[in-house]
Amino acid sequence: MESGTAETGAQTNRTNAGEAASGERIDVRNPATGETSETIAVDSPEAVAETVARVRANQAEWEAMGIEGRYHWLSKLRDWILDNQDRVLDTMQRETGKVRADASNEPGYLADMINFYGAKAAKFIGEESVRPHSPLLASKKLRVQYRPHPVVGIISPWNFPLILSLGDAIPALQAGAAVVIKPSEFTPLGLIEVVKAWKEEIGGPDVFDCVQGVGDTGGALVDAVDFIQFTGSDRTGRKVMARAAETLTPVSLELGGKDPMIVLSDADLDRAANAAAWGGMMNSGQICISVERIYVEEPAYDDFVAKLTAEVGRLRQGADDASDPKEVGAMTSPNQIAIVEDHVTDALASGARALTGGRRVEGPGDYYEPTVLVDVDHSMKVMRDETFGPVVGVMKVRDAEEALRLANDSRYGLSGSVFGERERAERVARRVECGAINVNDVLINYFASDVPMGGWKQSGIGYRHGAPGIKKFCRTESLVITRFGGKREPTWYPYTKGRRRLVDRLVKLLNARGLKRRLGL
Ligand code: NAD
Repeated sequence: MESGTAETGAQTNRTNAGEAASGERIDVRNPATGETSETIAVDSPEAVAETVARVRANQAEWEAMGIEGRYHWLSKLRDWILDNQDRVLDTMQRETGKVRADASNEPGYLADMINFYGAKAAKFIGEESVRPHSPLLASKKLRVQYRPHPVVGIISPWNFPLILSLGDAIPALQAGAAVVIKPSEFTPLGLIEVVKAWKEEIGGPDVFDCVQGVGDTGGALVDAVDFIQFTGSDRTGRKVMARAAETLTPVSLELGGKDPMIVLSDADLDRAANAAAWGGMMNSGQICISVERIYVEEPAYDDFVAKLTAEVGRLRQGADDASDPKEVGAMTSPNQIAIVEDHVTDALASGARALTGGRRVEGPGDYYEPTVLVDVDHSMKVMRDETFGPVVGVMKVRDAEEALRLANDSRYGLSGSVFGERERAERVARRVECGAINVNDVLINYFASDVPMGGWKQSGIGYRHGAPGIKKFCRTESLVITRFGGKREPTWYPYTKGRRRLVDRLVKLLNARGLKRRLGL
């Protein structure tokens, strides 16, 4: 079987996602049922290098098409995604165990990304004309052009298989780079389908491909490309950065989070509780910007906790279909459900209480009950480390100052939210140490693609969305063009006393402050 293509049926030398090595095959499971969905082949490091070399050979032509020419092809990709939405969502549900409503976020986001960068690329990465700041440069025309890193490698996680791979490929391609993606070994199927469609149905230029495997394949991709966009855990992010350092390859890292939500006493508590339930449980809590910990001002605490517990307790969980929709799906990676269990067990053993949930669900599929924990504190893993599951911990705080101190007491700084009277909430929000903050809403910053989003502290390096989300895939080239000049400049050879004096005078005239100094008196 050609590497990177999916097949069904029995295979030898299979291994589970997360354990595969080169030359082996990976069984992709459906976490909603526990059954194997499909089996894919792992790409060897040599195969990765070959794929990168192939798309590299076509990149110059792609770049030469210009912004409009590339948008022409990306808009065909947008049309294909929207026309084939059901097919894409079926595949995604089979590999992630998501409920349909959660999966449905992906096609719309991708279509919006294509439209957004299609419309804004000229503004964000078009050539800039710069006025010289000094009369000494009066003879020069200054321009800045943004040229793409020829091949961008994207390494992506399993929680949003297309948003977190294609979502970065779109601005990279729009910038003129060729792109090779290594998706998560747990969720490669949707991307394989899209890449196949780009090649066979859309007939797009051969500048976009994917490779399959685990860490070995990811490492080989880092070695072969000119820029790495990594989304995943901070643990793997460190390894990727260390590997990229060997070839001085620039990286952008979108890593984990432990997002705080602050609920002030003047908040609309119904809205705040509904937002906490959705922000904490959506996609089974497997979002880098999920609400993971909540700090509530004392006067609002009891009401808020009662409303949140009722809302979370109402959620329907399981494998859903059109006739029986559910709100909370499966956990995609078996490793992650073990981490969730560990965090909740640790909290309960240290005095926390689960007001609803608190257990893994028995039976087929990987489900963890939507869980609200109270009586938690920062000595517990569930308030310190990334849980990445359908669990929120709620703490009562004296006032906004204590909420801010606790919210900022984290090695992460991805995003967060503050609920309260708008002006007061905004003042508090400005002091939360993170890359993006929502006032009276949750998660929405991810869809506000006009503004950048990136992690502070150990949540990452670099930004996606907005101008930085496409500029990062480019190298800056400054052009200093001489419009007129004689045979020599005053600073060139030969060095004579007269020219030296002239230069010294000019330096003082232009840079000194005060008339006497300027005239050298
Ligand atoms: P992970 O770090 O385990 O894996 C991410 C990717 O890295 C996978 O494709 C994996 O195969 C690959 N990989 C593993 N070892 C590698 C190595 N040595 N070299 C190169 N690549 C290697 O993360 P995950 O479990 O897939 O995803 C969950 C994590 O992703 C969470 O921490 C979550 O917060 C984070 N995340 C961050 C964002 C963001 O935008 N900041 C978004 C979604 C998820």
